[in-house]
Amino acid sequence: MPEVHEHELVIVGGGAAGLTAGIYAMRYGVELVMLTVGAPGGQTATATTIENFPGFPEGITGAELILRLTQQAENFGVTFQSAEVKEIQPNGERWRLMCGDCEMLATAIILAVGASPRRLKIPGERDLFGRGVSYCATCDGFFYRGQTVAVIGGGNSAVEEALYLSDIAEQVYVVHRRDELRAERILAERAFKVDNIEFVWDTIPTEVLGDDSGVTGVALHNKATEEDRELEIDGLFVAIGYEPNTEFLGELIELDHGFIVTDDRMRTSQPGIFAAGDVRDTPLRQVTTAVGDAAIAADSAYRYISERRS
Ligand code: NAP
Repeated sequence: MPEVHEHELVIVGGGAAGLTAGIYAMRYGVELVMLTVGAPGGQTATATTIENFPGFPEGITGAELILRLTQQAENFGVTFQSAEVKEIQPNGERWRLMCGDCEMLATAIILAVGASPRRLKIPGERDLFGRGVSYCATCDGFFYRGQTVAVIGGGNSAVEEALYLSDIAEQVYVVHRRDELRAERILAERAFKVDNIEFVWDTIPTEVLGDDSGVTGVALHNKATEEDRELEIDGLFVAIGYEPNTEFLGELIELDHGFIVTDDRMRTSQPGIFAAGDVRDTPLRQVTTAVGDAAIAADSAYRYISERRS
C-alpha cells in the first residue's frame, strides 16, 4: 500500500494553467503539490512562437514561456511531483487521488490537465507514428530538411505548423477538409504568400502509406470531385485540434463533449474541485485564457480551503 500524503491543494497538470494556479495559490499561502506527467509544459511548450501573449511584442517561444513560468512557480516554492492521476474518489470532506504508486488526500483540487492532439484514426497513422507521422512540428520538423511534408487541418495549429515547416522542408502541403481555413486571417494570409506552401482543399486523408523506412505518402479523397489520389510525402503532421484529457475522471464530474463544465469561479460540479485551461468547457483555448482561468481557480480554491481551516 502506498503511503498516503495529505495536502491542502493538489494541482493536476503542469502546463500554463497549472503553473499559473501554482504561482497564485502559493502567494495565498496554500500548501500544495503539483502533479505532472514528465516535465512541466503541456501544449504551450510545443508552440513555435506565441505572438498574442500580452507583454511580448516580439513574440515568445512556447518553450521559453514555460521555462519562465516554471522558474516563477519554483521561486514561490511550488513542489512538483511526477505522477499520473488514474482516479479521484470522494473521501469524507476531502478527495482521494490515486496515481498507481502514489496516493494523496486533498482538501481541494485544481484540474489543469489540458488536452491531447486529436488523431485522424485512419489506417497507417498509428503504425507510422514516430516514423513519419507526428503531432508536433516544432518537435519533429527538424528531421524533414529539404523533404516534402503534409500538414492535415485548417485551424491555427495547422497553419502555424505549415509556416514553421516551410522554413525547413522543400515543399509543404496543407490538406484541409473544406475550401476555407478556420485559422485567423493574419496567419492564413501569411501562409498564402509562402511559395513552398500549397493548399489542398476539400480533401481528407484516408490512409497513411509507408514501408519499413517510414512514411512514403498519404492517400487523399477530394470530397468535391470524389477523386482519390496518392500524394508522395516524407512526413505527415496531424493538426486537427485537441481532445480533453478527462477519461480518468469517469462519471465524477459533469462534462460536455468531454470538457469539464465550470461556473465563472472555475467550480466544477463537485465541491472543492476546480478546473482551468484547455480542459475546461470554454469558448476560447489560448494561453491567455488558460492563465486567466488559473488565477480564478486558485482564488476559488484558496477561499474553499480557508473556510475549512477554521
Ligand atoms: P481547431 O481550431 O479546432 O482546428 C482544427 C482543424 O482541423 C479544423 O480546420 C478542422 O476542420 C480540422 N479537423 C478536425 N477534425 C478533422 C478530421 N477528423 N479530419 C480532418 N480535419 C479535421 O484546432 P487547432 O488549430 O489545434 O487550435 C486549437 C485551439 O488552439 C484553437 O482555439 C486555436 O485558436 C488555438 N490556437 C491558437 C494559436 C494562436 O493563437 N496563434 C495557435 C494554435 C492554436 P474544420 O475547419 O472543417 O472544422
